[in-house]
Amino acid sequence: MKVGIIGAGAAGLAAAYDLVKKGHHPTVYEAGPKLGGQASTFDVGGGRLERGYHHLFKSDIYMVDLIHELGLGDKLAWIESKVGFFHGGKIYNFVTPMDLLRFKPLSLVNRIRLGLVTLYLQRTKNWKKFEKVTARDWIVKWAGRKNYDVVWGPLLRGKFGSSAEEVSMAWFWGKIYLRVASRDKGMQKEKLGYPMGSFGEVFEVLADRIREKGGEIHLSTPVTRVVVEDGRATGLEVKGSSGPPEIHNFDVIISTTPSYIFPRLVPELPDDYVDLLGQVKYHAAILIVMVLKQPLSHIYWMNISGYDTPFLAIIEHTNFVDRSHYGGKHIVYLSNYLSKESPMYSMKKEELLAEYIPHLKKINPAFDQSWIEEYYYHREEAAQPIVTTNYSEKIPDYRTPIQSLYLANTTQIYPEDRGTNYSVRLGRKVARLVLGDYGHRVQGELPRPAIPLTPER
Ligand SMILES: Cc1cc2nc3c(=O)[nH]c(=O)nc-3n(C[C@H](O)[C@H](O)[C@H](O)COP(=O)(O)OP(=O)(O)OC[C@H]3O[C@@H](n4cnc5c(N)ncnc54)[C@H](O)[C@@H]3O)c2cc1C
Repeated sequence: MKVGIIGAGAAGLAAAYDLVKKGHHPTVYEAGPKLGGQASTFDVGGGRLERGYHHLFKSDIYMVDLIHELGLGDKLAWIESKVGFFHGGKIYNFVTPMDLLRFKPLSLVNRIRLGLVTLYLQRTKNWKKFEKVTARDWIVKWAGRKNYDVVWGPLLRGKFGSSAEEVSMAWFWGKIYLRVASRDKGMQKEKLGYPMGSFGEVFEVLADRIREKGGEIHLSTPVTRVVVEDGRATGLEVKGSSGPPEIHNFDVIISTTPSYIFPRLVPELPDDYVDLLGQVKYHAAILIVMVLKQPLSHIYWMNISGYDTPFLAIIEHTNFVDRSHYGGKHIVYLSNYLSKESPMYSMKKEELLAEYIPHLKKINPAFDQSWIEEYYYHREEAAQPIVTTNYSEKIPDYRTPIQSLYLANTTQIYPEDRGTNYSVRLGRKVARLVLGDYGHRVQGELPRPAIPLTPER
């Protein structure tokens, strides 16, 4: 079977890998110059780094399993996380239950209430009951207004920016429930995973395996149209680096593009399906990555509470992965999620940095602009689907109304938060669905990998 795949991110590559392993011929077209989509990397300080900060949780079993299958298991490091909260001009550690008990911005009663509600969410398996209510309303009702304003509201804002108050409680449940799995049994500390060498290396090895088995991957080759004949997708129109667009024929097509791009490639899609695709909006992410002479703080992931700071989180990567991998430099991401209409989205990188810099002194009063040796700017348009209430009704099927055309994108990940792990699961699921639909033998559901034993570092 010849399968055309649009997008060389985690989903597209995982689908191609499973198809090529079964003896089929996938051809992946990627508009960008790199593998890995949102998890792609750039070079800094002699090392490779994700354009947007990336790590894994212990619950990310599909990604961890893939890393092991590719022979990269010994490069997967599990490192104690250093999560913090910036509130009222002070940095608070925020990893263990003891940290919560010491969190002075909340009264003792509120701290205990927050702890009990967290415990309840961690032990609740039935997330469906959270579908109809926003996280804000649920949290205010059960954990109280103060706990929302000081702790969980800022966490939601850090992920959904100005749309935080629309987010479904089912999404928030997923975040709390799955996070527990990142704690070793009996241990209070959380460990986060990182493939030493970067996520980019994982996708490169994956691409090598696909090519070795006969698959093709074409970078800097955007798909401009899905060819549809008599209600069936039969090919892809692609734009090479030179010459006119070319048409390639396929038996099956899988698109991993964001939902708003998909109808542009397939004008034949029926209106009701296009309306469904339009129901899920995305937030974009903008990132400033600073290469510093000095550390900004001791925290890896710092959420910012309060509304007077123009970025939502600070991720100091070298408080997670040792700076020796980046020529001894300190690497800090300043992260923002926002709508594309927000004025900040269109700011030039110099303007954005100028807007951010005065606020860095709040985090570390000694900070000086001269610490910045260089900085980079990255923008991701479809960074975060906004998971609103009754979201399950808004998820498009993998099978589209056009025969032999499949969709596999981050809007279909639910109730978990989108991430490389779930895109790998998605790609593998859709490959399986395609194989089943075309009469190739597959048995039952996608198997759930066991959490592999990972070396500790
Ligand atoms: C700032 C940020 C931080 C993140 N942090 C983490 C983290 O810590 N851990 C984690 O696991 N995940 C994280 N994620 C999420 C993770 O990166 C994504 O969920 C995942 O990589 C999505 O993979 P995908 O293949 O589904 O989509 P994408 O990566 O978006 O891939 C889709 C691909 O399709 C291509 N494409 C689009 N249109 C066309 C076209 N017409 N022709 C050809 N190609 C096309 C795009 O260029 C893209 O490469 C983060 C994301 C962001 C933005």
